[in-house]
Amino acid sequence: MDAPVGLTYVFGRLPVHGAQELTLRGFPLRIKDIIVDQQLIIAAGREKSLFRRHPWIFSGAVAAVKGRPKSGQTVDVLGQNGQWLARAAFSPKSQIQGRVWTFDADERIDAEFFLRRIGQSAARRRSLETESDALRLVQSESDGLPGLILDRYAAVLVFQLLTAGAEFWRAEIIAALRTLFPDDAILERSDVDVRAKEGLAERIEAVHGEIPELVEIRENGVRLLVDVRSGHKTGFYLDQRDSRLAVGRAAAGAEVLNCFSYTGGFGLAALRGGAKNVTQLDASAPALDLAVRNRDLNGFAPESMTTVCGDAFQILRAWRKEGRTFDLIVLDPPKFVDSKASLTRAARGYKDVNLCAFHLLRPGGRLFTFSCSGLMEDALFQKIVADAALDAGSTGRIVRRLTQAQDHPVALAFPEGAYLKGLEIEVE
Ligand code: SAH
Repeated sequence: MDAPVGLTYVFGRLPVHGAQELTLRGFPLRIKDIIVDQQLIIAAGREKSLFRRHPWIFSGAVAAVKGRPKSGQTVDVLGQNGQWLARAAFSPKSQIQGRVWTFDADERIDAEFFLRRIGQSAARRRSLETESDALRLVQSESDGLPGLILDRYAAVLVFQLLTAGAEFWRAEIIAALRTLFPDDAILERSDVDVRAKEGLAERIEAVHGEIPELVEIRENGVRLLVDVRSGHKTGFYLDQRDSRLAVGRAAAGAEVLNCFSYTGGFGLAALRGGAKNVTQLDASAPALDLAVRNRDLNGFAPESMTTVCGDAFQILRAWRKEGRTFDLIVLDPPKFVDSKASLTRAARGYKDVNLCAFHLLRPGGRLFTFSCSGLMEDALFQKIVADAALDAGSTGRIVRRLTQAQDHPVALAFPEGAYLKGLEIEVE
């Protein structure tokens, strides 16, 4: 076997009481940092994705687990011939049994690792800070930190731990955040159902500092209040920042429908861009309450914005019967697809809502239509939208393709990181 060179291997052989006293570059080494021959052995012929630096190891690719690692602990990933492939977090309950932390045999997984990777990830976003003071600082696998989401909302940091591996290093991740961002408050929003797949319970915890009821952020000249404690995701849909800007630029003079509006982001961007008026439609009353507060915060006149609370599918159909029309429509529905099995049902949902939108658009109008389902491929989404236009008797053309904002990057080795797609369509 190729022994990994470096300290991990050496310390792995030290008696535990000795290891507790050791430090590495100023960081104390503790028992949990030390891999004592815990390994995932990859089945013959299944190493290929690891050679391509894909971070997921499916249970079917694991030939053997050696050394009885606990949930979330670090394991060395080896090929059949003992070749060292990667160092990963072990998720025994998940279909994805290993998530790779590093492909570098010399890189230790310890407090310093998290400090370094989180720091680098945040530094990569520095140039975006001028547009907004709310940014995703760590995007899980795409930033080399599987299972960790970190968002900044002005002076409040919100993180989510999605996997057993991220959960295992919780204390070190929090310590890294305290070191890197000493002036910021920290909230944990690990209240996501994917944790159940990893055998983890949900958790919401104010970890450090004062967490205000609502945090005010700014995005491309719009002020927004964010409910970090109980809003969707970590409080706001940061991934749509670039598309909100695109809507704002197309909105001058328009009567706008923002369907699936949440707290009004697209509609407020449209008002800032000179829209005549905006109808914000969402099923969530608290989200719409916040949309009204956001309107006031930006000084937009009360008559410039209407909120409608209810089911978009029913309301759009009713408006179609009434002959209501708009110049610009935004459709940003929730994720309809959460498994391959639900794709057909989801396709019907997307078709239905896009069909309604084409009916409600005035000649020369614009549709901004989105899907945030990773399992819905770009080509299929475009076909669904095209079919909807055809059924509605509309002729349209795609004038721009839209995607998740730059602070939600897609690692080249991890194409699954691309989930948000959108089309800006001009109709005749
Ligand atoms: N465009 C928003 C994010 C939208 S997220 C932004 O940029 O901030 C999807 C929204 O759809 C959620 O706010 C959710 O409350 C809403 N929603 C889900 N199902 C709905 C339905 N059937 N009718 C209306 N709104 C719905």
